[in-house]
Amino acid sequence: MSYTGPDFDPPPPSNSRRRPLTVAVAALVPGALLGWAVYAAVGGSGDDGGNGEAAARSSASAPASSAEPSPSGASASGSEGPDDGTPSASATASSSAPASAPAGSGALKGKVVVIDPGHNPGNFRHTAEINRQVDIGTNRKECDTTGTATNDGYAEAKFTLDLAHRMRALLEEQGAKVKLTQDADRPFGPCVDERARIGNEAKADAVVSLHADGAGAGQRGFHVILPGAVRAGEADTRAIVEPSRELGERIAGNFVRVTGNAPSNYVGDGTGLVTRKDLGGLNLSTVPKVFVECGNMRDSKDAALLTSGAWRQKAARGISEGIVSFLRG
Ligand code: ZN
Repeated sequence: MSYTGPDFDPPPPSNSRRRPLTVAVAALVPGALLGWAVYAAVGGSGDDGGNGEAAARSSASAPASSAEPSPSGASASGSEGPDDGTPSASATASSSAPASAPAGSGALKGKVVVIDPGHNPGNFRHTAEINRQVDIGTNRKECDTTGTATNDGYAEAKFTLDLAHRMRALLEEQGAKVKLTQDADRPFGPCVDERARIGNEAKADAVVSLHADGAGAGQRGFHVILPGAVRAGEADTRAIVEPSRELGERIAGNFVRVTGNAPSNYVGDGTGLVTRKDLGGLNLSTVPKVFVECGNMRDSKDAALLTSGAWRQKAARGISEGIVSFLRG
């Protein structure tokens, strides 16, 4: 969750306008050109892409399901989606061939990827512990937060773990060594400083922190949060700003391409990229790292995607293929 939690102060609201976004995405995300073409081909005007505002004020005619065959079906059949939990073998196998790396090629052999599933399903039972203040270099902040949930009660912490499992399977197929910062194998946390430390100590080649947002209804779409240049206390991000931006751009481009969803309509001016200096998980990282906010759990259309196992598999592929693209250079 982003906007009520202590590690997620709201970024300044920004105007979202569709037209400049198109250009911005294409310009800022070189790897996304193909993705953008796919996105444009499947609707382009905010149908499945999470631009509620644009759809409302311009053409709301495109069906929300043009790029996602069954979001409504998945949500109607329950909040878990068809294959919640560990990814099925068939889903993994059928999605294991990123354009840039054939399945089983071992393209990521020797690479270390740390996946940070945001929050922890047990955090809400440990409010005193997760409210403890930790030093994030620039200031002190709560250790962790509970995260958000859909209006039907599908928890962000459950979403992030599911997505992490799917990504781990995909990245391990490529030969990467994958480490999770938590796997619901501890009662709460870790704290944001420890989450950063896990990536640092693993000497990770890339770290991705997974989240879903808790913004207002009508605010839709994913965004990737990049570290800003920070030097204070234990925080010094200067060496990771550039590689993290590259990582974030690759992820945003591949997320668009694989999911067919547009970037956020409420932050990032349509680029799907936001730079922040207030997140301990980024400030304390010494290795390339980004956060991915996969959608807005509080918007019903985004929630239909986030609760669909089939969509989560696409999201996992999009993010993973962005990582593969980044690591292969
Ligand atoms: Zn979160």
